[in-house]
This record gives sequence, structure tokens and C-alpha cells, in this order.
Amino acid sequence: MNAAAPTERRRIRRLSAETVERIAAGEVVERPASVVKELVENALDAGAASVVVRLAGGGLDRLEVSDDGDGIPAAELELAVEPHATSKLPPAGPIEEIATLGFRGEALAAIGAVARLRLLSRPPDAELAEGIAVAGGSPAGRFAGPRAPGTTVTVEELFYNTPARRKFLRSAAREQVEVVRTLERLYLARPSVSYRLVTEGGTIAELPAATSLADAAARVLGAGFAEGAFPVAGELPGGRVVGTLGAPSRPAATSTELYLAVNGRPIVSRPLALAVRAAYGDTMPRPRFPTGVLHLEIARDRLDVNVHPTKREVRLSGGRDVEDGLRRVVREALVAADRPAPLRGSAAVSPRAGDARASGRPAEANVPRPASAVLPRQRTLEPPARAGAPAVVAAAAGRPRLELLGSLDALYWIAASDDGLVVVDQHAASERLLFETLLGGGRLARQSLVEPVILRLTAGDRAALAAHAAEVGASGFAVEEFGPGSHRLTAVPSYRGRRAPAEGLVELLRELAGGGRPTLPDGLVARRAASIACHAALRAGDVVERTTIADLLGALDRLPDRPRSCPHGRPIMVSLPRARLDRWFLRSPG
Ligand code: ADP
Ligand code: MG
Repeated sequence: MNAAAPTERRRIRRLSAETVERIAAGEVVERPASVVKELVENALDAGAASVVVRLAGGGLDRLEVSDDGDGIPAAELELAVEPHATSKLPPAGPIEEIATLGFRGEALAAIGAVARLRLLSRPPDAELAEGIAVAGGSPAGRFAGPRAPGTTVTVEELFYNTPARRKFLRSAAREQVEVVRTLERLYLARPSVSYRLVTEGGTIAELPAATSLADAAARVLGAGFAEGAFPVAGELPGGRVVGTLGAPSRPAATSTELYLAVNGRPIVSRPLALAVRAAYGDTMPRPRFPTGVLHLEIARDRLDVNVHPTKREVRLSGGRDVEDGLRRVVREALVAADRPAPLRGSAAVSPRAGDARASGRPAEANVPRPASAVLPRQRTLEPPARAGAPAVVAAAAGRPRLELLGSLDALYWIAASDDGLVVVDQHAASERLLFETLLGGGRLARQSLVEPVILRLTAGDRAALAAHAAEVGASGFAVEEFGPGSHRLTAVPSYRGRRAPAEGLVELLRELAGGGRPTLPDGLVARRAASIACHAALRAGDVVERTTIADLLGALDRLPDRPRSCPHGRPIMVSLPRARLDRWFLRSPG
């Protein structure tokens, strides 16, 4: 039994009209993962110790959640699937003081309205399990059968009667990724409960009940997380926080690997995530993010969970104080773990280059710019356009459009254009080119490994690999299954003049999985290409052969309507027109 479940089960009752009105309205059923979330929350509220989720077709064809919780009395089955009927609130009581995950009495009804639902339940003191079927939103018969105490909810043909919704969903493999991630979030919010996820292909995720948060975190974040992870514990205004965070030297590429929970409920909170990031300050290069799990226990009267229909976000009263407190606790834990912690005040998030260097981890975007370097240096450069080095790109008029003059600090390329000087950002330009290659269906360069690397991927990573095989292939990684639970990496992208490390695959998978929010398909394809391009692109500080730069400039020039920004919107180049130079040097035009 988990601590947050109420000790005694109330009967299911209809909520009063006033209470219904005060409940945050909105869609709770968006996709298989949201159905799984609602059903698992019900299992947790029923005190389950173990939950099994089965999926067919990523949950679109069929999904089932079974628990060993305290069940639903046969007499209450009709009410359970009725809207606004719940056992978790007193009929007219305050919705502010909720100890359970659910309280709206709406999930089963909402699922029953968009799918075929069957509920089979046996309270511990009943001899037999009894069930109810729901079709088209109304009860469609009762049945009975043998079952161990607990509840099984089966959902078939999700959105069969709302084709517009169904069209919005992604492939079965991608919906499955979301289900895995949802279970991981729930597990990390309450690792005393164990989960098993079974699909057509067998058990694909096993999350056993853990007594330590560190064990649970390593289960989800991978064994490497444990290296250098450190404990966090401290007081917050109106509560406290405990958890485990990853070493600054092992950051994530996205913010999705920091798992936050408030009172046993997984939440997303940008302000709280920013507070944690701020505590790491310059010990971690940007743009990189902390990993780990933090549990906040906050007094119920300071917490409003009724702000979001799926209860994904919560409101904390005195939120700023909690953020400040969290940042302080995490920073102290970092120091205690003997990591280089930022010494400056609370404005720890400084992008200043010197500080990043002092910590021994140069941030790529922060290479210092000597103010006087541009013109003197380029004078010393060798002439462009040697034979075999297509430094000059012939434009339609026959005149070179971008002619390489030189580069500055392995960061900026200086070129002559038909009307002056152009300064090109090495990373942005390279990123844009790779992005275009990927969008055009091209593949990035790869290098075969003489000795394949055996990988043990987490369940989430395996699901992401299944869902994004095409993108992974295009990025240059070649990976194949190798026995149960193992994969073999046979090739890696070769970029920036060197081989990508094997761990780059995990980073990419998590980024791909993290981008799986519902969006227009086009947007999503472009976003994925942008993720890959960003990983593969030249960085500031990468020293590149002159001929390579010239090739890249040529390719840039050949892009249709010569884009001016990288996929993230940073500029690729700035121009200094001849006319402006002339004005600066007080020459009359001509
Ligand atoms: P809510 O969780 O907000 O009360 P739901 O529609 O999800 O609303 O569930 C309605 C009611 O059905 C719950 O209040 C609970 O009494 C009962 N119930 C649902 N699922 C389970 C379960 N797995 N085990 C025990 N009771 C359940
Ligand atoms: Mg519920």
C-alpha cells in the first residue's frame, strides 16, 4: 500500500453540481499513453503494489491495465463508469485537499466514450470478479469471472467512433514510446510500485519496486546514471525535497531526463526545472540539462492540482520561494558531493566564457572573440581556389558568389560575396546543411566499427529505437538486435572529423523520444531533422580543413534561396556590403 492512498475506501458517489463546476475541464484522453496514465493512477489510488500493462498495436488496438489493488464492489460498477462519480471526494467537500491522484470521477467515463471498455474487478472480500462493459459511452452489459483480487480495465479500438482524433495519432511504435515514458514517469514518482509492460513482442519493460530512488533512477536513466550521481535532501518552504541527481559531467541533451514529482504525482514544471538547472550553473555546459529524480513533499494547502485537466501541472502557492529553496538545496547537495559548484550568487546561470573555462568544461558557444582579429589575420591567408579544391562556386553569372578568404578562431568563416564581405557562423552553417540533407532524404556519413559495441538499452530507449529506426539510420548509427535485451552497434556517424561516441546513440534516442508531443507531422519531421543536424554539425572550435570549409560554403550557396538562419533560427551569416565598407573608410563610392 502506498502512503498517499486513503486508508479507507469511500463509496463511489456522484459529485455535486457545484463541485463539478470547480473542476478543471478538458480532454483527458488524447492517446493511448493518456489512457494508460489514467488507468494506472486509478490502480495507485486503489493501493496497488504491482501493475501490468498490455498493449496491442501500441495501445491503439487494445490496451489493458491490471492491478492488485482493493477493487470495486459489484454494486458500484455502473457508477464507476459514470461521469463525475468518484470514491475519492466527499460529495460536496473541498477539492483542495486531495490525497489521491484522481478526484474528477471522469476518466473511465471519458475513455468509455471513445473506445470499447471492459472493467473486471474483485475486491479482496468478494468471491468472484464482476465486470461491466461500456460501448458508445453507455453500460452494455455485466459479466463475471474468476480473478485474483484487483482490477483489470481493457480498452479496445481507441477512438473508433472519432476518426478525426484517430487520424491525429502516430504509428503504433511511437504511441508505444509514449506509453513507456508515461510508465517511467509514474514509476519514478512512486518507485515502491512495480510495473511490467507487455506487447506482442513480449515483456518490453520491467520496472521492479525499488527501495532506493537511486536504483529506480538507474533503471530508467540507464546504468551510467549511477556514476557520480549524488543524493539531494533538504527543507523547502512548506515542505521538503529528496532525490538523486546526475553528475554535472553526465548531462542530458534535453530537459526530459529530469523527473519531478510532487506528493507522489509526476509533474512537469518549467520553473522548478529551471531552478534545478540554475543550481548546476556553469558546472554543466550549455545547452545541456540535469538528469535525475526529485520528490517534493509539499503541504496540501499549498498545492493546487486542479489547474490542468490531466493534472500534469500543479500550482504551488509561494512558488518563487519553493524555486529558490530548491535551487539552494540542489546547490548544497552538489557542493557536498564535491563537485565544482558555482561560487557566484543566485545568478548562477552565466553564459560568460571565462567562467565556463574555469570549470574545465568550455561551453561551445562561448569562445571569446578578440576584438581586433578580423582584418589583420585574413591578410596572411593563402589564396583560395587551388586545383582540386572547389573553393570558388560558380554562380549563374560565372562569377564566384562566396569566395573563402579565411576563418577566425575556428568559429567564423570570412568570405567575399558579389557585394562585399560575408561572415559565416561555422556551427550554424554546418547545421543548416545537414538539416537540408536530412530533409531531402539524404543520409549522413557513417563509419563502421571494426569491433561492434554491445549496448544494453533501457526499455524507453529500446521503444524509441523501434519508433525512430529511420531517423537513427539516417543519422549514421547502425544498430541491430543482439540477443534478448541487447543491441549491437556496428556503425556510428563520423562527423566533425571524428567518430561519434557510442553514447551519442542514447542521447539521440532520448531526444527523439522527448520530441514526441502531438504536432503537425511536417513540423515533427523537421524538428527531428533539426535534432540530428545539431548533434552532427561542426562546433565552434572544431578546426576544419580549408578545403572542407570551401566545400561547405559552396553547398550553402547552392541551397535554394540561400537560407540565412540555422534550423533553430540563429543567423548563419551576416553581410558587410562593399558600400558600407567604403563609407567606413571615407571613400566615395565607385
Ligand atoms: P476518479 O479516479 O477521478 O475517481 P475514474 O473515472 O478514474 O475517476 O474512476 C471512477 C471510480 O472508479 C474511482 O473513484 C474508483 O472508486 C473506481 N476505480 C476506478 N479504477 C479503479 C481501480 N483500478 N481499482 C479500484 N477502484 C477503481
Ligand atoms: Mg481516475
